[in-house]
Amino acid sequence: MARFWRPGSEKPDSSSSYPSAARDDDYSEGVPFAMPSSYQSGYMSIEKQRQSLPIYKQQNSLLYLVENTSTTIVIGETGSGKTTQIPQAGWADGNQLIACTQPRRIAVQTVAARVAEEMHVNLGLEVGYSIRFEEISTPGVTKIKYLTDGVLIREMMEDPLLTKYSVIMVDEAHERSVSTDMLLGLLKKIQRRRPELRLIIASATIQATSIAAFFDNSKQRQLVDKDKSLPSRKPAILSVEGRSHTVLIHYVEEPVDDYLRAAVSTTLLIHKMEPSGDILVFLTGQDDVDAALQLISDEAENGSEGIFVLPLYAGLPRSDQELVFSPAPRGKRKIIVSTNIAETSVTLEGIVYVVDTGFSKQRFYNPIADVEALVVAPISRASAQQRAGRAGRVRPGKCFRLYTEDFFMHEMQAEAVPEVRRSSLVSTILQLKALGIDNIMRFDWLASPPAETMVRALELLYAIGVLDSDAKLTSPLGLQIAELPLEPMVAKMLLASAALGCSNEVLTISASLSVQSIWVSGKGRLKEFDEARERFAAAEGDLITYLNVYEAFLASKKSAQWCHQNCINFQAMKQVLDIRAQLSRLLQRLGIPLKSSGKEIQAIQKAVASGFFVNASQLEVSAEGDLYKTVRGGLKISIHPSSVLFRATPKWVVFKSVMLTDRHYMREVTAIDPAWLTEIAPHFFQCRK
Ligand code: ADP
Ligand code: MG
Repeated sequence: MARFWRPGSEKPDSSSSYPSAARDDDYSEGVPFAMPSSYQSGYMSIEKQRQSLPIYKQQNSLLYLVENTSTTIVIGETGSGKTTQIPQAGWADGNQLIACTQPRRIAVQTVAARVAEEMHVNLGLEVGYSIRFEEISTPGVTKIKYLTDGVLIREMMEDPLLTKYSVIMVDEAHERSVSTDMLLGLLKKIQRRRPELRLIIASATIQATSIAAFFDNSKQRQLVDKDKSLPSRKPAILSVEGRSHTVLIHYVEEPVDDYLRAAVSTTLLIHKMEPSGDILVFLTGQDDVDAALQLISDEAENGSEGIFVLPLYAGLPRSDQELVFSPAPRGKRKIIVSTNIAETSVTLEGIVYVVDTGFSKQRFYNPIADVEALVVAPISRASAQQRAGRAGRVRPGKCFRLYTEDFFMHEMQAEAVPEVRRSSLVSTILQLKALGIDNIMRFDWLASPPAETMVRALELLYAIGVLDSDAKLTSPLGLQIAELPLEPMVAKMLLASAALGCSNEVLTISASLSVQSIWVSGKGRLKEFDEARERFAAAEGDLITYLNVYEAFLASKKSAQWCHQNCINFQAMKQVLDIRAQLSRLLQRLGIPLKSSGKEIQAIQKAVASGFFVNASQLEVSAEGDLYKTVRGGLKISIHPSSVLFRATPKWVVFKSVMLTDRHYMREVTAIDPAWLTEIAPHFFQCRK
């Protein structure tokens, strides 16, 4: 059991029981905290809520700044109203729109829904949104559009100066995702051609000065004629005052060895020992969240009543998203088990307790082995502070950190490294190329990525035939790959499938790879899950297995019940259908015919190999067991237990992604014949041998 102490209090001796340190706080001393009546009876009315937001008081300053400066940087704590209120301030000029970008799809959806509700309009009319494969807006009617930064970058392919928009707000800039950083660089370029465009950059933390310096054009030569009506080119900074309550921090005394179990037991203890107030638990990914939910509900059957437990992660279906934002049923305590999403992206009301495991899933790129892996790694101190802050929205709260204070002080980094410095840049560079930015090395980044990573990305794009030897997009392949809203290697696989006569099948595979996961995982149902997967498993690997699932789903007449019986995510399958239809229209537009290979699986495997040959790996039997070695980079890697090939050991495989835990694991694996490799990519494999 995790034991906690609070800084500033005496460290409890090991015999005292939990929560020793927590006991001497203001609640347990018998000082009743006066809850606002609004909180007791559910939440405030929407109108009242809006007016009580800190940003509301600064609306005039904001309007003034945006009117008079090209770039306004807004800093305000999570929950101060930046995302929902700023776009409503009222600048939509004539026929132009206001765009507001988010790093995450789920934030786009929930925020757009919330703002439509605040404005008493139907979502998709005055307020719309756009995420990859889902556009909910009405041309000519929509005035405010929420979208992911990736989608806004895509829009530049058709409209390079984004002339549709009069104001563009880049939200959550502190997260420093690759797309956000890339977007900031692109917007800076657009600003030189469109000095009347207003940018708002919103951030939850104070790194405003570097962003302000980046956007400071005041000393640059003006590209457009001097015009007195144009806004000032010196960025302005607006700080929105916060209004959060104090949050008491508790640390564990000793490191915990299983953060998931520690999180579950801590949550249940809070429920048992602490006065009312909702609990927010931070875990790393959907699989963690599902497992924790299962553990909590198992426990709840043994007596922890009065709780209402909900998951929150990126792939959460729309219907479940609403539950997370509405009050718990009367007399129940809401427990939200979330990934990093709840750190700043979405605002949850009513949270009084936070359980912070101290981890999140992060991308790490290793340019030597040339692999990008997802790693569960410690968060930064800045993130830890954000997470704790979630507990202080409605009244003083508490944060239980499942790591020691020493770890917080000495092991955690102050700030996270911007993602461009720790990811593969293959997609990014392809997009820059598609936007006509030829000199990639000189692109203006807020933080420049390592030159080596860029060189590796250029090499790879050359290897898959997207760039020619002058680093120009090839025609038609490079142009087509850039056009498809898929990762470059998936797009390559799909395009290759046409010539192999199996585009119909590979279309399904590409759509399946574009959703979060088609399986309902859940460590709690492991056996059931394994059996279900066995039913569809193909000896050729995971991608062909997706095809089997899809066909069985169609045969079931798209039945939700069938999905449930087979541990398949019905929502995800509906998305697959929808994405498949969209991709099919795109292929048609590119003039690529749909052909079916019927039962001929080998053609499909070949198409997969054509996309992912750079990840080809060969089995090596050694003392350590069956390990694979990547052809490029020579990395030792195992098949992940979630793969249908986990127990099989084909001699040669290609994979889609890598996870790093105790070792490197490949996911979404397909068996291949090595003879195809020299056929598919002679230049690549010859020069490596
Ligand atoms: P910020 O962007 O500054 O973090 P937001 O604009 O997201 O703040 O949130 C402001 C307020 O709007 C929150 O405190 C919350 O009360 C409310 N809110 C935001 N999103 C939702 C939602 N999906 N459902 C209900 N309330 C919401
Ligand atoms: Mg926000």
